[in-house]
Amino acid sequence: MIKLAFYDTKPYDKIWFDKYCEEFGIKIKYYDVKLSEETAVLARDCDCVCTFVNDDVSKATIERLLFKKIKLIALRCAGYNNVDLKAAKDKITVVRVPEYSPYAVAEHGMGMILCLNRKLHRAYIRTRDFNFSLVRMTGFDLNGKTVGIIGIGKIGKVFADICSGFGMKVIAYDPFIKENKFKNIELVSFDELCQRADIISLHCPLTKDNHHLINIDAINKMKDGVFILNTSRGGLINSDSLIDGLKSGKIGGAALDVYEEESDLFFEDMSGETDRDEKMATLLSMPNVLITSHQAFLTNEALENIALVTLKNIKNFFENNEAENEVIYKENI
Ligand code: NAD
Repeated sequence: MIKLAFYDTKPYDKIWFDKYCEEFGIKIKYYDVKLSEETAVLARDCDCVCTFVNDDVSKATIERLLFKKIKLIALRCAGYNNVDLKAAKDKITVVRVPEYSPYAVAEHGMGMILCLNRKLHRAYIRTRDFNFSLVRMTGFDLNGKTVGIIGIGKIGKVFADICSGFGMKVIAYDPFIKENKFKNIELVSFDELCQRADIISLHCPLTKDNHHLINIDAINKMKDGVFILNTSRGGLINSDSLIDGLKSGKIGGAALDVYEEESDLFFEDMSGETDRDEKMATLLSMPNVLITSHQAFLTNEALENIALVTLKNIKNFFENNEAENEVIYKENI
């Protein structure tokens, strides 16, 4: 049997990995802690590790894993910005789940926009308190508005289709798409997208080149009252610039499923903590901000696919010497 050390385990992961691991010949040791330089030692006696978006797969961690003779890092996610691929190159193989349900993420994104725009989160609380006033509950029609999508890959495309269904005009910026094959999408430059969009939605990976893509300069180019949706990676937005934009009213609303400092917060119950992340506390204090804790992927369909593809990645690597979903180091990542 292949032995797998599984980090940052949550009950919703375990259901699906337990269901299929035997079939793939994999024995799993589950750990609640995240992978880090300190916890890498828990992988002793295992062949590989399985990690998620906020595990620390830095050079130091990789060196510890190599010392424990770990041969494979199996990411149970699509994004890999938390992995030092340069340190892993030629020493340890990294595989991921490139696609598990673009619908899960895109649908959650549209859910956040609908909730924030029509103030459903506030209505839920008001009506439970027998407060049926509609004062400060006005939203806007999505029909006829322009959505600007940054990164028109798998998730961006599904989100574009959903927006088209709402009667929105879809414009997109993606520097890696040279030819426009999309009937319902107009490709534009980043600046034009900022200038024209009523809602801007991020669907590109976080790389060295686009860290803080949404900064004060970009925000200044945007329409007054623009809505920003981020279901991609927190580091794409400069939180200080976002807070300034929200305070001044330049930004009309922010729906965030990710946050640049999320690794010490998200997926954990921090409600008892008094020493709170100040930027997060500021964002949460604003009536026009909606935050979910990196939850967009969380559907049964996505979780089942994540488990199946991860287990297949591991089995193929150890039994067939194949790494179809390998993440390979490139200079700009
Ligand atoms: P994908 O690879 O199919 O598409 C990404 C697109 O972004 C590609 O078309 C690429 O050309 C484009 N791109 C790359 N760099 C860009 C840049 N600097 N500016 C604009 N476009 C750029 O990826 P996907 O499956 O659609 O996922 C997109 C991102 O969503 C992932 O990288 C991940 O960060 C995030 N994600 C979040 C969740 C969640 O639960 N919140 C779940 C899955 C994925």
